[in-house]
Amino acid sequence: MTAPLNAVVTGSTSGIGLGIATAFAENGMNVMLNGFGDADEIEGIRAGLEQQHSVKVRYSGADMTKPEEIRAMMAQAEDAFGQVDVLVNNAGIQHVVKIEDFPEEKFDAIIAINMVSAFHTTKAVIGGMKDRGFGRLINIASAHGLVASPFKSAYVMAKHGIVGFTKVAAMEGAEFGVTANAICPGYVKTPLVENQIADTAKERGITEEEVVRDVMLGEQPTKEFVTVEQLGALAVFLCSEAAASITGTALPVDGGWVAH
Ligand code: NAD
Repeated sequence: MTAPLNAVVTGSTSGIGLGIATAFAENGMNVMLNGFGDADEIEGIRAGLEQQHSVKVRYSGADMTKPEEIRAMMAQAEDAFGQVDVLVNNAGIQHVVKIEDFPEEKFDAIIAINMVSAFHTTKAVIGGMKDRGFGRLINIASAHGLVASPFKSAYVMAKHGIVGFTKVAAMEGAEFGVTANAICPGYVKTPLVENQIADTAKERGITEEEVVRDVMLGEQPTKEFVTVEQLGALAVFLCSEAAASITGTALPVDGGWVAH
């Protein structure tokens, strides 16, 4: 029997990260959860996944803007599981406003959480992955890692940056069985998206219903939101041997958005 894979998923107390962590646990992987939220709710998620799927699930509240806390989380994962085989950089926030009004602190936070944190997490594990001849680095970028939308300057900058970082990690890991890929989702109905509907309506001078129909689903030819289950299944596939030759990619999962 092969040993279970051990994963760290940043920003996994909600939305896409939680969907990926759940898919990993369902597939027998041990998981380190991370993110903010109500302590009792997070413990309920952690214990629930552990009991339902007979895997180890741990939690770190590390703040992805703080390199020291990130390093401590990665060390905690290595202590708990022995090694980290899979890293999913998913934590992210959004802020929707035109460039001239964009608050500096918000801009810096988006760059730190959505982009720079992936350097610190990756730095902590890629050496061990190369030494052992296996690793899977998965960065949750966005369709905004490939194309722009107005009023999302920090987010689009960070997501294009993480696509570039993914390619570098792919080059460095390629001969050592370590793959690195960016998943580029279109709109997924998570709190991150729910929270930007009102601000987008204000910036564009349209109603919230028009934001969902014309801006969000208007981008996606399928006229459907992407689901966290679809993204979880893709992350599981990227961890498999069948995906060993997929590396350095930015994979759109966006209902056709970036095809037009
Ligand atoms: P979400 O708000 O549901 O979840 C974000 C997660 O990140 C939460 O667990 C939150 O606690 C955590 N987080 C936020 N700040 C943090 C910090 N400083 N330190 C540690 N954790 C922190 O959002 P989501 O939609 O699931 O987004 C997850 C990722 O997917 C983000 O990188 C986002 O940019 C990306 N994405 C989302 C969509 C979408 O439509 N929802 C589309 C493309 C890409």
